Amino acid sequence: MPAIAAFPGSPHPRFVEARDPGPPSAGEVRCRTLELGICGTDREILESETPWLPPDSDHLILGHECLAQVEAVGTGVDGLSVGELVVPTVRRRSGPLPFRIDMLSWDEFTERGIVRQHGYSAEWWNDEPRYLFKVSPELSSVAVLTEPLSVAEKGVNEAIALQRGRLGPAYWTTEPPRVLVTGLGPIGFGAALATLARGWPTTLYGRDPHDSFRAGLAVELGARYLKADAEALVPADVERDGYDLILECTGSEQVLIESGRALASRGALVWLGSTRMPEPALLDFARLLRDGILRNHVHVACVNSAPRDFADALDHLGWFHQHRPAALAKLITERVGPEDSLWHYEHRRPQGIKTVVEFGRV
Ligand code: BGC
Repeated sequence: MPAIAAFPGSPHPRFVEARDPGPPSAGEVRCRTLELGICGTDREILESETPWLPPDSDHLILGHECLAQVEAVGTGVDGLSVGELVVPTVRRRSGPLPFRIDMLSWDEFTERGIVRQHGYSAEWWNDEPRYLFKVSPELSSVAVLTEPLSVAEKGVNEAIALQRGRLGPAYWTTEPPRVLVTGLGPIGFGAALATLARGWPTTLYGRDPHDSFRAGLAVELGARYLKADAEALVPADVERDGYDLILECTGSEQVLIESGRALASRGALVWLGSTRMPEPALLDFARLLRDGILRNHVHVACVNSAPRDFADALDHLGWFHQHRPAALAKLITERVGPEDSLWHYEHRRPQGIKTVVEFGRV
């Protein structure tokens, strides 16, 4: 079956014939893609017209959010069997390096479907078990959300690590942080899942009206919804009514600066969104600096996710599957076959959250 690829000089995705990797080598498993999520990064790769190509290839096969099934197991592989469901991670290190894989710098890694390595829209691929997370069959309908959720989990886990490092190991345990998530895309909803599943009070902030699908879903998942422009983002008394953790998921520097004003003392602000092609902007960064200094804020920027974050993502999908299954399922707003998928790589539906490409049946 053809794979979906990005070519230099073109904003349009195209089908290419992918090489069948054949039987797995020793220490590897052969997997078959069942479901693939389409994400903002795929669209940005295409829009940029400059995909980062694997060596010796004139295109990049897309796909980094994936649910797959193990089809064959190479010699020496323990703990994975034929027929089991897995989600693969994205990043691969280029050599033995002393940091966690998600903390490497540009020259030290490749990313499947994003940076110099083909992705999972090729139906068959071989990989090492250490890059695969086993999925229980009951989560099969939502497990394709694991990778985008793991990115939000990293933001939360990094904030926890920083806050406990500077404020004590019990910080945010007895007294949960008041959370603000800005943005109603898949990362914004992922961030809300990550904090709600931890039992933290969460407000989702967006531009959609209260009676829209996405605002309604925020509430159905257990969050409060705050509408941009109509309701005040910055409370009159920031210490009493503001937030202790803000997860910025719009990628808008304006929203970042505005939300920074709603962050209470000792708060953490996590940057989870950005554009691949930033434009210069003239904004009031001085205010962010002033509030940040006077209130001892910590800002943390992060990308990719660690194995810890994939494990948390699977746990939290399990929590929602048990407690709010109908709301969780609604995050997948459209399912299409590969033949109808190309349009979705260049467009978004107004109230869409996650489009999933179905390659095969679970
Ligand atoms: C992926 C990350 C990746 C990042 C940058 C995101 O869409 O979820 O795994 O590290 O893009 O390439």
